[in-house]
Amino acid sequence: MIVVLRLGHRPKRDQRVTTHVALAARALGADEIWVSEQDAKLEQTIRSVVGRFGGSFRIKTGVEWRKAIRSWKGEVVHLTMYGESLSKALPKIKSRKLMVVVGAEKVPREVYELVDWNISIGNQPHSEVAALAIFLDRLKGGKKLERKVKGGRLAIVPNPRGKTVVDSEEGKGRAATRKG
Ligand code: SAM
Repeated sequence: MIVVLRLGHRPKRDQRVTTHVALAARALGADEIWVSEQDAKLEQTIRSVVGRFGGSFRIKTGVEWRKAIRSWKGEVVHLTMYGESLSKALPKIKSRKLMVVVGAEKVPREVYELVDWNISIGNQPHSEVAALAIFLDRLKGGKKLERKVKGGRLAIVPNPRGKTVVDSEEGKGRAATRKG
């Protein structure tokens, strides 16, 4: 069970980045994303992707982050460029129930104290999307990326030249191929 906790989301400014945090979380095997600020539009966007592409990824917004971290029955990782290196920290993570915290702007100092692990994905500043993707991919040993996600209306078939999308509701599963 992996939950990503997104802190400091500003609905107007961070809509696109938080959407990408959620999509990366889903694609790389997290089960849920919790966002500290209420955002109905964000919820709708993510549920629509899950509806079309499948799986059981869930989103919750307006989550009180302090309470969420304190009451988590598992380990809590905070991704920050100031933390200990990923390669050193990864072998120490034992729990199968993991909360992964990522920030938007400055993360409150308290977060660094509340979590079990402050982990850096390199010590250069980059992005919460990149940090989360690398962390989840390393945590899962690269196994989640190419898995089949069940239950979606749309499935993409790898194609070296164009786009192959199978829509199970259109033409009863016939593949519609577009070359791009
Ligand atoms: N100065 C901010 C801070 O307090 O860490 C950086 C903000 S950065 C735009 C947004 C988020 O990206 C951070 O909160 C962190 O979760 C993630 N991030 C950026 N670079 C990172 C790195 N090198 N390692 C781990 N996480 C990183």
